[in-house]
Amino acid sequence: MDKGTITEYFSAEKIQQRVRELAEQISNEYQDLKEPLVLIGVLKGSVIFLADLCRHMTIPVELDFIGVSSYGMETKSSGVVQITQDLSRPIHDRHVLLVEDIVDTGLTAQYLFENFESRKPASMRLCTFLHKPAKSKIDAELVHFVGFAIEDEFVIGYGMDLAEKYRNLPYLGVFSKN
Ligand code: 5GP
Repeated sequence: MDKGTITEYFSAEKIQQRVRELAEQISNEYQDLKEPLVLIGVLKGSVIFLADLCRHMTIPVELDFIGVSSYGMETKSSGVVQITQDLSRPIHDRHVLLVEDIVDTGLTAQYLFENFESRKPASMRLCTFLHKPAKSKIDAELVHFVGFAIEDEFVIGYGMDLAEKYRNLPYLGVFSKN
């Protein structure tokens, strides 16, 4: 067991309010689509955010998921990204919104953008719950919809883990060792 203290960073209420705003913004921007927007959640961290986000959206959507190798038990990016579970359907000619929990270095997002581009979607954008701009090595324009920009802290909760734990916290916290 990890011995430590969790300090609240954003409350559940603050998160829900921001997710509603993002859902409204996305729904407005895609309101003229002739077909459902394809939301692609990056497993596992984005699952909670995606579930809340899509329920506040007012346009038709389809959901799919992609699995990528994560930090494992580490709290730092290895810089190596690998697809561990692929999409269930082709995205050729579809409008795609990639949904991430957090853009840290941005290597995961960049890798997925390059990978998806070869599948020729009609359009592709990124929505992330959190962004750490200080660490990001990717073009800021790629990060289209952002819930919150945060400092360079290792956060947990609202889908994000520490060695697979704490994903189910309804708030966002910072873990510090005792
Ligand atoms: P990137 O490739 O942008 O460096 O990292 C993306 C992934 O690293 C995220 O999807 C997330 O799984 C993990 N990650 C990055 N920063 C944090 C953090 O502060 N807390 C947690 N729990 N995971 C993080």
